[in-house]
Amino acid sequence: MTALVFAEQEMLSATAPSGAGFSLRGRRPELQRLLLHALERFPVEGGFYVPRERASVLAGVTEYHLSHGMLFIPLEVPDAIEGLLAIETDELPGAAELRHLRGFADIAAWSLHQERTAKAAQREAKQSTLLALINERMRKSLDRAQILNAVVEDVRHAFGAATCVIYGRDPARPEHALVLASAGTGIGVDADLPGPVELGDSEIGRAFEGSTVRHDGGAGPGIVVPFFSDGRVESALALHFTRPYSFDDVDLVMLRSIAFHVGLALSNVRLFELERMRRGRAELIERVVRILRDTQYVDEVLLVFAVTTSHELPVACAVYGIENGTAERKAMRVRKAGDFEPVSAVDVTTIEDALRRDETIAGESLPLAIRERLFGENEGLAIPLQIDGNLWGMIAFYVTERPSYWDDEARQFFRSLCVHLELSLTTALGFERIQQLARALRESSEFKDDLLAMLAHDYKGPLTVVLGYCDLLLETLPAEFHGEIETIYAQTQRLVRLSEDALALAQTQAGGFSLDRAAVDLTEFVEEHIAALNRGSARIRVESGEVPISIWLDPQRFAHVLENLLQNALKYSTGEVLVRLARDGDRATIEVTDRGIGIPEAEIATVFARFGRATNARRKGIGGSGVGLYVARKIVEVHGGTISVVSKENEGSTFTISLPVQP
Ligand code: ADP
Repeated sequence: MTALVFAEQEMLSATAPSGAGFSLRGRRPELQRLLLHALERFPVEGGFYVPRERASVLAGVTEYHLSHGMLFIPLEVPDAIEGLLAIETDELPGAAELRHLRGFADIAAWSLHQERTAKAAQREAKQSTLLALINERMRKSLDRAQILNAVVEDVRHAFGAATCVIYGRDPARPEHALVLASAGTGIGVDADLPGPVELGDSEIGRAFEGSTVRHDGGAGPGIVVPFFSDGRVESALALHFTRPYSFDDVDLVMLRSIAFHVGLALSNVRLFELERMRRGRAELIERVVRILRDTQYVDEVLLVFAVTTSHELPVACAVYGIENGTAERKAMRVRKAGDFEPVSAVDVTTIEDALRRDETIAGESLPLAIRERLFGENEGLAIPLQIDGNLWGMIAFYVTERPSYWDDEARQFFRSLCVHLELSLTTALGFERIQQLARALRESSEFKDDLLAMLAHDYKGPLTVVLGYCDLLLETLPAEFHGEIETIYAQTQRLVRLSEDALALAQTQAGGFSLDRAAVDLTEFVEEHIAALNRGSARIRVESGEVPISIWLDPQRFAHVLENLLQNALKYSTGEVLVRLARDGDRATIEVTDRGIGIPEAEIATVFARFGRATNARRKGIGGSGVGLYVARKIVEVHGGTISVVSKENEGSTFTISLPVQP
């Protein structure tokens, strides 16, 4: 019998004085009275009121409908059916009775309708307050747990439900749901706490597939509503009653709009969390890069990287460099989490493949044995380090706090962190190479300077002895032997000059020399030296003014300069050499002029350079080292002076030294 299918638990049975029975919800005494009164007029056994929610099955019934000993009369108002009257009778009442029944049904329908609309309006008002409350709370919080806790409390309270629970998918086991928030379950008080639910074909499972699931029987009425966020079911809310409750349209609309709002809030929370995490990661990369930038040596770079990274993130970090087929651990920073320490070396052949195969991340693709030795029980990543396209090493990270941390985005982040490490490693390797080269260069240059200084110094002693004996021989031997001895004397003197030049050169190269100054009368000083050089020939002549020029210089070193210019003038010319001394304000000038071979115009600058010689001097076979003028220039410059030359090839040269009178 169709109507019985809809029999409700909470129906009250009312019996008319005539003995006819009728069932109706107990809360509606007027309607009940009305019904009994009406039914007294008919020869009926009894009847049922089928509420609106159940009446949908007989939605096609418009006038009345007799079947299986029941007469169904719709309780209709325009645009809605409020229920059905089901009357037990075998025969159709007469026309007048039917009209009467219809009239009665209309009154009942209106009464029900009014009551329902009033109740709905009341509930709607109450529930929109709930929605406003929940919205307000969500606006104030960007914390997932806080939002969900507020929702369960408020919803449970508004519906007067026994429990309200929000389930979310278990990230570790997606086919399970975990309790995210609950109200009325007596958490911490009794054992009623809902545990993880296996989704499968359960109500929660169906909600996670997107349906709203209602139930009436069993442990009492209840409903499960899915919360969508970003197009997928993020979580589901389950309301449970221990008293009768039937969900009407208003309840459903309300629960769905709560679900919608919560979904939106959760998606905002996710965006916010994502953004915060991204910003956090960007800041971390920036910090690591900054620290790495100030770090120059490879070992230092690796250590700084490992320490910074595991200090900032819940990870342990070990860096390996590949050497002779072994990945050797170069730097490490282990955070607590079981105190597992990764192996100190790994045979490269066992991992190389994995590292090469997966450019971005080696993680799970590593052989199990290696993975265990690198990460232990922990979840980990191994990222190859490539330098100039070659596998330089790898870096092993493992989590020490949250296993769910290894999402794709985290991997990308670690990869980009490692790219920065690769970059600074490249720089550090380059820096160390340059350091090595510089060290080698410095050592070789120091060696050369030492050698030169030693040679020059040790040459001079014996040569001076030879010169001394020449002098003695010249004095004691007859004039016929003087020619050869003069030659020995001149050549030895040349050797002395060469060794002096070499010594001076070594000193200038070794980073300068100090001056041992004294006040010197320039005219006297120059004349003394000329006298020594004029031995026998008297080719050098001096011109100087009356006023003595006192000058502050290092006599020994300056003698070297002067001798150099004079010797050159004698060497590169055959005639007279004129030396002019003058004073111009606070400067003194010394000019040495000869009428010799001169210097080609294009080579004027060359002659002051180290080992610089003019082509005409070489062509004519005049011996020389190209060191003298270079050393002279250095000495003059250290005195604060300048040296220059005006020369024309085949006509002669004038070298001019200009010196400050006071230092
Ligand atoms: P050296 O005379 O031993 O070659 P110097 O450094 O003293 O070295 O001189 C550099 C070059 O300058 C000489 O080789 C020569 O070509 C040129 N030079 C120097 N002095 C004169 C000069 N008085 N006349 C012509 N050329 C000169």
